[in-house]
Amino acid sequence: MRPEALDAMTRVLANDFGNPSGVHLRARDARALLEDARDRFAAVVGASPHEVVFTGCGTESINLAMRSVSVSSVAASAIEHDAVRETAAAMGRAGVRLTELRVDSDGVLEISALLVSGADLVAVMAVNNEVGTLQPVLDVANHCKASGSLLLVDAVQALSWIDVRPIVGVADFVAFSAHKFGGPKGVGALIVRGGRRIEPLLYGGGQEQERRSGTQNVAGIVAMATAAEITDRNRNADSARIGRLRDRLVDGLVGRIDGCTETVPRNVKVAGSAHVCIEGISSEELLVLLDREGVYASAGSACASGALHVSPVLLAMGVSKERALGSLRLSLGVTSTDTDVEHALAAVPGVVARLRGG
Ligand code: PLP
Repeated sequence: MRPEALDAMTRVLANDFGNPSGVHLRARDARALLEDARDRFAAVVGASPHEVVFTGCGTESINLAMRSVSVSSVAASAIEHDAVRETAAAMGRAGVRLTELRVDSDGVLEISALLVSGADLVAVMAVNNEVGTLQPVLDVANHCKASGSLLLVDAVQALSWIDVRPIVGVADFVAFSAHKFGGPKGVGALIVRGGRRIEPLLYGGGQEQERRSGTQNVAGIVAMATAAEITDRNRNADSARIGRLRDRLVDGLVGRIDGCTETVPRNVKVAGSAHVCIEGISSEELLVLLDREGVYASAGSACASGALHVSPVLLAMGVSKERALGSLRLSLGVTSTDTDVEHALAAVPGVVARLRGG
């Protein structure tokens, strides 16, 4: 977590125990903190405060958006996170028509795929969580506007790397998750544009203007707003520094390991994403050995079970199953240092050589 967010969170936990829905002084204090956080978060993402619905995570934000509206068809890109894919699949089982939108070999949505989908609701992520590619969300929004489709943007991976205001300016729903930008786990937000009435997932006390009942996680929300502000303020400098570290890391891996190639070009992806495919090894074994060397990496997306499977994202990009099985994803962020990069560069080539029997 960003230290400032952690500090804000612990201060609220220690001092502000009031329930923001109550009426007494302590409750009103908590309410003031909550509403201040709403104002601050709204300003960072370019929304009005009343458009911010605080949730328990990115997955909840996405479910709330997709299930809150009555639609008969949904189109989603082939590289969406499971939060979108599985929600769409559940809607499909209930009779909603589903269309999967193609991506190119760089992992970028093909707009032409969208033109023929004719869906009531389109879901496209801003930044892919596995390979880090930026998606053409503004073009998608133009198309949605012309065709009258609703647009959900999963911006869970975006806030650290791009100014999301232009996206919020053109989407109907935008989903966020605090732990992707230095906030705590278990807090998220959904931006619901234009005062749209939505059917809630959770019924109860009517919090969040009847859109998400349940007592708000005030400390987590305050921390999320603090992390978002600091991220927004430092984004350009942080991205430039992290991009340089990422470049050193990827250049080092490609230069030191035969048969190691970068999965997508750097000019279509965010600074914190390093993704390579390594021939002749299984990433499952690689991850186990790297873990012992203190390098905590992933291959495909992490499932709750911890099990690995061939990444549907890589398959959708046309990467062969064989190549996808040797994928390695290393993520960098504001806490990453030169020492971390040196450590990874010292560890990975040796482990690969061991796996190849060298
Ligand atoms: N969408 C994307 C792109 C993600 O990367 C993630 C989490 O990794 C989610 C949605 C789900 O967010 P959360 O873990 O907060 O439910």
